[in-house]
Amino acid sequence: FIYQPLREPDGTITGIMVVASDVTPQVLAKNDIAEAEENSRLAIEAADLGSYTIDLETGMMNTTDRFVELFGFKPSDQIMHKDIINTIHPDFADIRQKAHDEAAITGFLSYEAKFSGPDKKTRWLKLSGKFFFNNEKKPIRVLGIAMDTTEQRELQQRKDDFIRMASHELKTPVTSIKGYVQLLLSMMDKKDQATIPTAIVQSSLLSVDKQVLKLTRLMSELLDLSRIESGKLDLSNEFFGLNELVADVAQDILYTNTKHKISVTHDFDAVICGDKDRLAQVFINVINNAIKYSPTIEEVEIRIYEESNGYVAVSVKDYGIGIAEANHDRIFERFFRAEGKSEQTYPGFGIGLFIAKDIIERHHGSIRVNSEKDKGSEFIIVLPVPAKKIN
Ligand code: ADP
Repeated sequence: FIYQPLREPDGTITGIMVVASDVTPQVLAKNDIAEAEENSRLAIEAADLGSYTIDLETGMMNTTDRFVELFGFKPSDQIMHKDIINTIHPDFADIRQKAHDEAAITGFLSYEAKFSGPDKKTRWLKLSGKFFFNNEKKPIRVLGIAMDTTEQRELQQRKDDFIRMASHELKTPVTSIKGYVQLLLSMMDKKDQATIPTAIVQSSLLSVDKQVLKLTRLMSELLDLSRIESGKLDLSNEFFGLNELVADVAQDILYTNTKHKISVTHDFDAVICGDKDRLAQVFINVINNAIKYSPTIEEVEIRIYEESNGYVAVSVKDYGIGIAEANHDRIFERFFRAEGKSEQTYPGFGIGLFIAKDIIERHHGSIRVNSEKDKGSEFIIVLPVPAKKIN
């Protein structure tokens, strides 16, 4: 409603004019716009995206806090377009320029690149946007969003490394088996088979057996991984002595590994409930890792002790290459292998500890690591000890 006084020439008010107009469509449209804006804001927030606009004539930007954070700035920092451009990794400057040149024609911007801003963290970001043009078809404004794709990129990289590693790991034992089989066959071809030295046959067969064991282990790791991912890794439940299991596993490993010394100390006797074979597999993996990653000081110490009331801990300690602190959590992730030159010389898939963690957590326990680079590592597996024993 608009109210206006009606005045006489001398200024006296003689009446009121009331203009009433129906603004329903405008109000509804305004509400719709506000709702659409709220919806897109929520979606952007839920997807952890950063959004921005750029005034291409002045270089001024309007951004959300998340956006500046993705580029390594503080939310309070005043950001201009050139500041964002400066954070791009030099290898991707051309990709960005090409994407902008194309967007200046098509109106659509899309590219993915590595960025590193004032916080010095390197992130993969995917930028998508829309260009707006003036009457002369000159781009004047950009509206867009930025998404952090670092994790996806890293997982992809690890998967690629995994495939490379897996083919190498599977090929090596097969090549070696083939070599021994050919050697034996060539000896059998000779006329006087009685002269074939039994020692050669025996050592060849032992080597073949070792390689077959290695292959079987690799294949079962791969199978377990897919079982875990599809939620089909079944666990059985039985009561058994943990101390005997750990001692047996250590003994079995000693049979095939003559170089390392493995000591087992029992400070606590525990009967636990769970899947004996799967838990054995966890200990095999952790002890084999302790051996694999300690090529110079060939000592592995295992200790079984009471962690806290109702929990038993098995610690497996080595004095090998160790793990940098930044990787302590990550080694339990799928396909993660600590990077660095030295680790590349140690064969492996990077899935053993991921499987181990899943098995232990499904037994309501936990697995953690204490380690320092070049000093050695200690893996501690904690499992609940049920109050009742069943004999
Ligand atoms: P892998 O088959 O690569 O050994 P795991 O999942 O068993 O896979 O281990 C993941 C990564 O954790 C290894 O690639 C290695 O970098 C690190 N790691 C595991 N155990 C040890 C250890 N005892 N000492 C040093 N590094 C270790």
